[in-house]
Amino acid sequence: MKYQPILGLEAHVELKTKSKMFCSCANDPNERHPNMLICPICTAQPGSLPVINKEAVRKTIKTGLALNCQIPEYSKFDRKNYFYPDLPKGYQISQLYQPFCKKGFLEIDGRKIRIREIHLEEDTGRLVHPEGADYSLVDFNRAGIPLMELVTEPDITSAREARKFAEELQLILRYLEVSDADMEKGQMRVEVNVSLTKEKGKLGTKVEIKNLNSFKAVERATNYEAQRQNKLLDKGEKIIQETRGWDDARGITVSQREKEEAHDYRYFPEPDLPPLHHSKKIIEEIKAEIPELPAQKRERFKREYNLDEKSIEIFVQNKDLGEYFEKIVSEFEARLKKEKLFKLIKLATNYLITDLLGLFKGEQFSEKRCKIDPENFAEFISLIEEGKISSKIAKTILQEMFSTGVDTSHIIKEKQLIQITDRIEIEKIIKEVISKNQRAIEDFKKGKENAFQFLIGQVMAISKGKADPQVVKSVLKKKLLTS
Ligand code: ADP
Ligand code: ZN
Ligand code: MG
Repeated sequence: MKYQPILGLEAHVELKTKSKMFCSCANDPNERHPNMLICPICTAQPGSLPVINKEAVRKTIKTGLALNCQIPEYSKFDRKNYFYPDLPKGYQISQLYQPFCKKGFLEIDGRKIRIREIHLEEDTGRLVHPEGADYSLVDFNRAGIPLMELVTEPDITSAREARKFAEELQLILRYLEVSDADMEKGQMRVEVNVSLTKEKGKLGTKVEIKNLNSFKAVERATNYEAQRQNKLLDKGEKIIQETRGWDDARGITVSQREKEEAHDYRYFPEPDLPPLHHSKKIIEEIKAEIPELPAQKRERFKREYNLDEKSIEIFVQNKDLGEYFEKIVSEFEARLKKEKLFKLIKLATNYLITDLLGLFKGEQFSEKRCKIDPENFAEFISLIEEGKISSKIAKTILQEMFSTGVDTSHIIKEKQLIQITDRIEIEKIIKEVISKNQRAIEDFKKGKENAFQFLIGQVMAISKGKADPQVVKSVLKKKLLTS
């Protein structure tokens, strides 16, 4: 492509609060029956008045602080007027002039993507179109749910980066516990603005893409749209500023409507709500509630545990597993000297990521659903490291611990699974194997390598997999060469 794609992203996020934005109806995304969570306020009955949800405001400011935003001392709400059947009041309470958060940024792979603002508004209801019917239905359960909107500057330069931005944003929202931000459920809705430019610093006409309900769709739609614009420009045609929808099945964007301007919405200050003042004290209080964020965690896991990037990413993405891992490490720390620690950490990481996650069969790890407590897991790893459990038996033991929650040492004792490393004991088994397998011994002497493997297999079988293979190898070799 001769052109550089320039992208700006807008994300709408439903906040996880007890009640709706301006009334006391429950904010419950799991309500399946239509129009159960409604009242005179969120259905806009004449004479009803809104009251601001403090929790929603705090969660918006918390998000802003986590994304390096400035929080203006005063903010207020505005009315955005438009007519649509899912909008009971005929206007949406939103923010235009003085949003809660301004001028932040989020770093993606070392590049700062500037965030223009984060504001708060209310969600609309939902239209339902029964198949074959000549009418539509409206469900107001969603009307009035707090909806946070984040707008970036046009700083994103590839579809991949747009996707990464959206993914990292979702992770941060989850760490902050401000939203579940599930894209499939519409709790996080992303729009990408796409334009092409030839000259650095000069912006081309943009097209806004809607209906993106997965990260994959964000990337695919952006790539498609950039290609579409590229072809038009190559033919000498102009890009029309418009809103296009993403058709996931066909893999194309489709024109929906030409762009409306802010003045089309006849914005004006919301007369039913007072402006809000945020004192330094309140901002500090909210700041103190921000937990360790993904970026800090990546850095700390590298520094403290010296893990590879891929493992770190699994622990960061899967917060519960990361916390479980850290509990195991602190068990090690309580028992051990430093040199051994990294070895154990690495071993634990491998068993967590490949074996334990495997037992969850693709389901999300959660400590609550894991019967093995961190102390027990730590013991299990220590025993492997000390050579008391072979890696083969380890899998059996883990499976058993996973389904029963019983201690490692218990299982080993009960099933007599402890690894046999004692040379004398192994020699006894080898003697038995030699006496029963004269043919294989002859073959070995004739130089057949696989006869040796066969004999090892026999020893392992008699020991029920418990003999230490390294010891078996060395004792057997010695025996065969000296006999
Ligand atoms: P509008 O007035 O059409 O809503 P804004 O300037 O408010 O446009 O920007 C909306 C979004 O579009 C922002 O995320 C912004 O970064 C992005 N954007 C603005 N201009 C461009 C452009 N030329 N190319 C790509 N994205 C853009
Ligand atoms: Zn209500
Ligand atoms: Mg806009």
